[in-house]
Amino acid sequence: MFTVAVLGAGVVGLTTALKILEAGYNVVVIAQLFPGDARDIRYTSNFAGANHSSMAGDDKRQFKLDMDTFDVVWKMSEPGSPTEHLFMRTPIIHYYHDPVTKPDPLADTMPEYRKLYSEELRVGATSGTYFMSVTFDVWRYLPWLYSQVLVRGGRAVRAQVQHINQVLEGAFCEKPDALAVCAGIGARTLGGVEDENVFPIRGQTILIRAPWIKQCMGGKAQPGISTYVIPRPSGDVILGGTWFHDDWYPKPKEDIHEMILEGAIKLVPELAPAEVRGSGRTPTVEDIRPLIIEAGCGLRPGRKGGLRLEKDTVEVPNCKGKQVPIVYNYGHGGQGYQSSWGSAMEAVMLLKEGFEV
Ligand SMILES: Cc1cc2nc3c(=O)[nH]c(=O)nc-3n(C[C@H](O)[C@H](O)[C@H](O)COP(=O)(O)OP(=O)(O)OC[C@H]3O[C@@H](n4cnc5c(N)ncnc54)[C@H](O)[C@@H]3O)c2cc1C
Repeated sequence: MFTVAVLGAGVVGLTTALKILEAGYNVVVIAQLFPGDARDIRYTSNFAGANHSSMAGDDKRQFKLDMDTFDVVWKMSEPGSPTEHLFMRTPIIHYYHDPVTKPDPLADTMPEYRKLYSEELRVGATSGTYFMSVTFDVWRYLPWLYSQVLVRGGRAVRAQVQHINQVLEGAFCEKPDALAVCAGIGARTLGGVEDENVFPIRGQTILIRAPWIKQCMGGKAQPGISTYVIPRPSGDVILGGTWFHDDWYPKPKEDIHEMILEGAIKLVPELAPAEVRGSGRTPTVEDIRPLIIEAGCGLRPGRKGGLRLEKDTVEVPNCKGKQVPIVYNYGHGGQGYQSSWGSAMEAVMLLKEGFEV
């Protein structure tokens, strides 16, 4: 039985590990950070919103990965499913301020897709869309993925890997027969990969408690940043957010924090608690400040040229020139959740092809 080492335990690494186990191989997940660890800027998956709202546009490969993932998570979120609690099925409402010139590929794929009626538009938007999708409860979902890897016989080793040769030479487990690199933003510095096309897309958020919010909304409520509101089944709601390229700053910034609050209450006044909504006055930032649980920020693993999902072979050091398959699955940017199952399925196909050579 082949053993595959999966480097990385974010949403991409764990989903890839699960699909490799399903294909009948042994798996060892090697990572510095795992679900349940204290939140750390080197582990992006903890900071995601996260919802499924494809941004693939014309990119057909990305769109297929997103839609393959949607098929999986829509089923997993079905009422009565044992995994229902990991998701919230919600309307996703986007408000657009610039003219929409291209057809929206989501029109043919997302349940209940329609254009917004003019009376539904907010904050000066000129058009908008509505469809049904899911949000992921990331702090439940990641431990669930990890538990599934372990339940299905996968193993886990905590290690800071300096170079992939350390894994290939058997420093953390037996010498693997193949390696899957799912290191997210870490792919930029990981020895043997050192992908200079990988860059951070910094996203800042605020987590609040507002269990009465049951739909996702996104739009431009104020200049400078986009606003989005993503509810989770736990009753927590993520307010965002920013999308800044090449910004490595690892902590929430105070000025952006205030901009997020202002944008959120403008776009979604329903965030204010019931007594404010019932009072007839216009809700303000001060009405949602007491609901704040914490501020966060994460580095989306952007990549020039898009996601790296490909196979190659790599030489095992000190092993008489032996080559083993290596599959790369990183650089998911702001789409790691919504393309996780699709990219994991493709990674497994590439791995199988690698073993057949
Ligand atoms: C604010 C925000 C909102 C987002 N919203 C959404 C959304 O709505 N929908 C969506 O689909 N996506 C969203 N994303 C994007 C999503 O979070 C990422 O695409 C995804 O988390 C990337 O996962 P990953 O597994 O590739 O990386 P990570 O989660 O960063 O995991 C990387 C793993 O590799 C390990 N690792 C790396 N280097 C090494 C090393 N040298 N040695 C050992 N271990 C190593 C780390 O320890 C970790 O286990 C959002 C992101 C942010 C920041």
